[in-house]
Amino acid sequence: MSDAHRNRELAENVRIETRAWIDGAAVPARSGKTFATLNPATGALLAEVSACDGADVDHAVRAARRAFDDGAWSRCDPAQRKDVLLRFAALLRERGEELALLEALDSGKTIRDCRNEVAHEVPHFFQWYAETIDKTFGRVVPTGPEAFSMIVQEPIGVAGLIVPWNFPLLMAAWKLAPALATGCSVILKPAEQSSLTALRLGELAAEAGVPPGVLNILPGLGEVVGQAIGRHPDIDTVSFTGSGEVGAFLLGYAAETNMKPVGLELGGKSPFIVLEQARITDEMIEASVMAAFWNGGQNCSANMRQIVHRSRYEEFVERTLERVKKLQVGDPLDPATDMGAMITAEHRDRVAGYLRSGVEEGAQVLLGSADLDDSPGFFLKPTIFDGVTPGMKIAREEIFGPVMGLMKVDSDDAALKLAADTEFGLHASVFTQDIDQAFRFARALPVGTVSVNCFSEGSVATPFGGYRRSGSLSRDNGLEALAQYQQTKTIWIGLETGK
Ligand code: NDP
Repeated sequence: MSDAHRNRELAENVRIETRAWIDGAAVPARSGKTFATLNPATGALLAEVSACDGADVDHAVRAARRAFDDGAWSRCDPAQRKDVLLRFAALLRERGEELALLEALDSGKTIRDCRNEVAHEVPHFFQWYAETIDKTFGRVVPTGPEAFSMIVQEPIGVAGLIVPWNFPLLMAAWKLAPALATGCSVILKPAEQSSLTALRLGELAAEAGVPPGVLNILPGLGEVVGQAIGRHPDIDTVSFTGSGEVGAFLLGYAAETNMKPVGLELGGKSPFIVLEQARITDEMIEASVMAAFWNGGQNCSANMRQIVHRSRYEEFVERTLERVKKLQVGDPLDPATDMGAMITAEHRDRVAGYLRSGVEEGAQVLLGSADLDDSPGFFLKPTIFDGVTPGMKIAREEIFGPVMGLMKVDSDDAALKLAADTEFGLHASVFTQDIDQAFRFARALPVGTVSVNCFSEGSVATPFGGYRRSGSLSRDNGLEALAQYQQTKTIWIGLETGK
C-alpha cells in the first residue's frame, strides 16, 4: 500500500477533539454554539467545533488566575516545571504522526511539512524551553557598600496567545513553550480555520502533569474570543501572530482596557536578492522556490519579490521556471505533494484577485494563472510574474499565496534600495559570493532576520520578529521570547556600613 493510500485510511479514523480545554477538562462552549471547520483539500466538513465567547474567556481567565496565584506552576521548583514540559515534549513526539495527519486534514498543508513541523519541531520547541528553566538567572548589580541589588525576572501572570492558521500547531508552540516555561498561565486561541491540533494539546498537557487552569485552549471566532482576550482586564499580556489589521485592533483593545503589553508578529513583503557576484546553484534555485512557494506562499516570511541583478537574471529565471514547473500541487496526504490547498475558498479567491491585479497592472505571467480548476478543494497553482515594478499592488501588499514576482536591477545598490522600499521588515535573503557585500547587506537591510546564501528563518535558538509594520519590539523564539512573558523586578537592599 502506498504511503498516500495509508494516510488516507488513517485519516478516516483520526481522533478529532472539538471541545475547548478549560481548567483541566474538555468542555463545550457555554452557549452550546459551534462553527464548521472544513478540509481545504476537499471542501468537505471535518467537524463542528465549540464556538467559545466572552463567558468562556471569563471562565478560563478565572481558572488561569487561580492557578497562577496558587503557585503550583508559577512558583514551583524549576526542576519540576522542567520535568513536566519534557514529558509533554515526549508525549507530543509519541503522537507526532497522528497529529501531523490531523494538521494536514485541517489546514491543507502537505503531510511532508506537517510531519516536519508537528512531529519534529513542535516537541523540540517544548524541549528547548524546558531546558532553559533551570539555566536562566537574574543579575547582581554593581553598587556601593551601602546596598546590594539584584534584578530578577518574574512570570507576568496570565498570557493570552492568539495564533494564525498557516502553521497552526507550530505557531502555538512558539508562544506556549516560552510562556509555560516562565511559569505563566495561558489562554490560547487557535485560528478558527485550523483549531483541531491545538485542541488535542490539553489532554496531553494534563497527562504530562501541567496543573489544571495553567493551560486553557479556546476555539472560536477572532472578533469574539480574540477580542474578549484582547479586552480582558485580568489578562496581563497578549502575544499575537497574524495580520497587521488585527494587530492594530489588539493595540486598541489594550489601550482601551488595562494597557497590557501586546507582542506582535505581523506580515511581510520580503525580498530574495541575487547580487552581481552571486553563484547560481541548484541550492540557490531551491531556496528561491521554497522562499516563494513553501506552504503555498502562506508564510509571513515568504520571499516573493525576487530582486535579481541584470547579469544573473536570464539564468536565474530559466532555472527557476524549470524547477517550479516540477512542483506537484494536490492531495496534502500524498508525501510526493509539494504544495497543498489554500486555507479557505475566500483566501484562494483573495490571492486570485492579486493575480488578476498583477496582469491588469502590466506584469507578464511566465507561469500559472488566476483560473481555478473544477476541484472541490481550494487549490491554486504557482504563478511567476516577470516585469514587476515597485508601484504595483503585487509588489507592495502581502499576498500570502503561491506567487513570485521578478524584478530586474542594474546594480547592487539599486537592489538594496528596492529591497528596503516597503512598509514591512520581517525577513530578507541575500545571495552573493562577495563577503563584503554579504555583510553590508546583512547590516543595511531593515528587517528582523537576514539569511545569506540560503533561505532560512533561523532556529528555535534565534529570535524571530519584524522591524517596521512587521511587528513590535517583541520576539518569538530564542531566549528573547521569554521576555514577552516576564516582568523585570529590581530588588535594592540597604546595608548598614557601620559608619
Ligand atoms: P487574522 O489576523 O485575521 O487572524 C489571526 C488570528 O487573529 C486568528 O486567530 C483570528 O481568529 C484572530 N482574530 C481575528 N480577528 C480578531 C480580533 N478582532 N481580535 C482578536 N483576534 C482576532 O488573519 P487572517 O486569517 O484573516 O488572514 C488575513 C491575512 O493576514 C493573510 O492573508 C495574511 O496576509 C495575514 N496573515 C499573516 C500571518 C502571519 O503569519 N504573520 C498569519 C495569518 C495571516 P479567526 O481565525 O477566528 O479569524
